[in-house]
This record gives sequence, structure tokens and C-alpha cells, in this order.
Amino acid sequence: MTGSKEKSKEKSKEKSGEKHSEKHAEKQNEKQNEKPKDKVNDKKKENFCIKSLALLTSGGDGPGMNSAVRAIVRTAIGAGIGVWGVNRGYAGLLEGDMLEMSVSSVGNILQRGGTILKTSRCPEFMHKEARREAGNILRRKKIDALIVLGGNGSFNGAMLFYDETGIPVVGIPGSIDNDIEGSEYSIGFNTAVQTAVEAVDKIKDTAASHARIFIVEVMGRNSPAIALHVGVCTGAEYVVLPSKEVDITEVANQLQRGISRGKTSSIVIVAEGPEAGLSYRIKADLEKEHQLQSHVCILGHIQRGGVPTVTDRFIAAEMGHLAVKAILEGKMPTATVYRNGQVVLAPLEECLEKKISFDPKYIELSQCLSI
Ligand code: ADP
Repeated sequence: MTGSKEKSKEKSKEKSGEKHSEKHAEKQNEKQNEKPKDKVNDKKKENFCIKSLALLTSGGDGPGMNSAVRAIVRTAIGAGIGVWGVNRGYAGLLEGDMLEMSVSSVGNILQRGGTILKTSRCPEFMHKEARREAGNILRRKKIDALIVLGGNGSFNGAMLFYDETGIPVVGIPGSIDNDIEGSEYSIGFNTAVQTAVEAVDKIKDTAASHARIFIVEVMGRNSPAIALHVGVCTGAEYVVLPSKEVDITEVANQLQRGISRGKTSSIVIVAEGPEAGLSYRIKADLEKEHQLQSHVCILGHIQRGGVPTVTDRFIAAEMGHLAVKAILEGKMPTATVYRNGQVVLAPLEECLEKKISFDPKYIELSQCLSI
């Protein structure tokens, strides 16, 4: 073939896009042969010498925790770090109950509620000696860092553990009550609200059929978050918040207003608060003081379980991924938090308190829409 013929063939290849696709194929091959690696993480790993980390889930469980566990395990393994799953939170840590995890050990768990690592309350961990022993256990196993997925209590334990042992820790907020100060979101909240809303929707069907008032108690202890969201999303006539003394006349007036407008059924949402059986007291007072009959339904632990929503899975995946990166970057002690629509890092100290405040605009929204 002459030189001019070769050139014209090259040109026609270029015209037809054949040349471009050959180059593209070459690049694709190169990419496929490349080992998966995170360049940022590789660099940081050299600096901070993290070879393995442990993770545990502690305190109250919440749907979506498994997504965070999966993200931690896969991000760590992808960055060449060993990862140990501690069973039953701090109790398992104190017993050295942990297993090295593999990529496949976290397969097919995204859609499962609860936590595959199990959780627990561990009063022993409140003691300095126990935390020191936990540090020794990690050191003996050559584990360099700890990720704690849990609520305020678990974060307080993690903070003390870091202060006393110097072992790097990262906290990931996991609480259906969304009550962790410093983060606008905690894993499990969206699913818990979704579950409660679905339950109230069902209760509303029977309430309407029988022309009844239902008092539905949701979880939240001192946090108003679940009650407020459920109240707005179900069009409840009244929301009883944990921070306020119940004004039974105000509740009754609100119910009467609806009845006089022709409503045949009503819903009162009650945040469980610290006092067990609050809903039954409200029911008794409505009957005694205002001659209003009602039924009580306490939703309880169904709010903790169930298939995690997309929101919980996604935020948990981001938090788990970022937690490993934080360890590699040596930013300790830290927490992954949700702020202004982003998962970011913040000092762990900012997340040690319980969040009991709420935005009054949600009360206004709830009241304004339930006239
Ligand atoms: P959550 O983490 O969901 O708020 P808890 O408050 O029950 O749940 O805390 C979970 C665990 O964290 C406790 O059982 C205990 O082991 C540990 N913990 C809680 N508070 C502290 C604390 N002040 N000091 C040390 N450890 C704590």
C-alpha cells in the first residue's frame, strides 16, 4: 500500500469515527485493567498508617444502619484496609466479639431493617477501666480506629474512649428520633416516620368508619421530631409535644372545632415523652373533663423496624463512605453529619447533646392545616 493510500484510509477512518472508537476501546481496556483505588485515600493512608478499623452499632437501632455498615466495609476494603465488625455494640467490644468482614459479608443487606452487627446497651462502658480495656483489646488485634454508629449515648462513649485511649473514632448518627445535636438528620428517622404515617393512615380508615377520635402515640421520648412530622403528614387535629405540659382544654377545643365543622373522626398524635402511658391519661381527661370518647393506639417498636426508605439508605451510604475517608485523613474525633442538604464532617464534640428543640414553624404548619 502506498503512503498516500494509507493516509487516505486513515482520513476515511477518522471520518467514519472508526479511529475514535478504537481509541475509546483502548482507553476502556486501560481503565478495566486498572486496580480500583482511591488516590486520595492511598495518599492519606501512607501518612496515617491505618491498616485496619473496627465498626460497631450501639444503642437504639434504626432502619438504614445496614446501608452504612455496607458502605464502611466496602470503602475500607476498596482502600486496602482491613475491617472488623464488632457484634452487639460496646458489649461485644469489651468481649472482643468481632469478625473480619469481607466484601460479600455485607451483600444483600441494604433492604433489611435493624443492624446485622446487632446492638446493645452496655452500662459497663460507662466506666473508665472498661473503656481502657476496650482500647487494649483493639490494640492487641492491631486495629487502629473505631467507627461508632449510634445515638448521643454511643457518641458520648466514643468521645471518652478517644480521650482516654487516643484511638481515632468517628461517629455516625443513627437514631429514629433524629435527636442528635449537630446533625440535621440521623439514620432511621425517615423510615420511622414513614412507618408511623402508614399506620395512622390505616387507623384513619377505621376512625372514619366508626366516627371516632383516636389518640396515636409515636416514639420520640424527649424528641418532638417524629410526632411533628407524622402530625403534618397525616393531617392530625392536634400534636402533643414532649416538651410541653398537656393543655387538655386546648386539645378538646381543637377536636370540638372539627366536630362542629362536620368532621366525623379525629386524630391526636402524642409524642411518647418520658412518662409512660401519657396517651391513656389524655384519653381519661378528655372523657372526664370534656365528655369526649376516644381510643388509644401506641405504635411502639414497629417504628424501629421495616424496609429502610431510599432516604435512609442513601444518607447512610454517604455517611459510611465519608466515615472511612475521615479516618484515612486523620480528622479525629469526628462525626459524619447532615447539614444544608450535604453529608459532611464535624467535630464529634458538636454532636454529644440531645436535640430537643424544634422549629416552631412546624407547629404552626400543623395547626394551620388542621382547622
Ligand atoms: P443511644 O446511643 O442510642 O443514645 P444509649 O444512650 O443507650 O443509646 O447509649 C448506648 C450505649 O453507649 C450505652 O449502653 C453505653 O454503653 C454507652 N454510653 C452511653 N452514655 C455514655 C457515657 N456518658 N459514657 C460512656 N458510655 C456511654
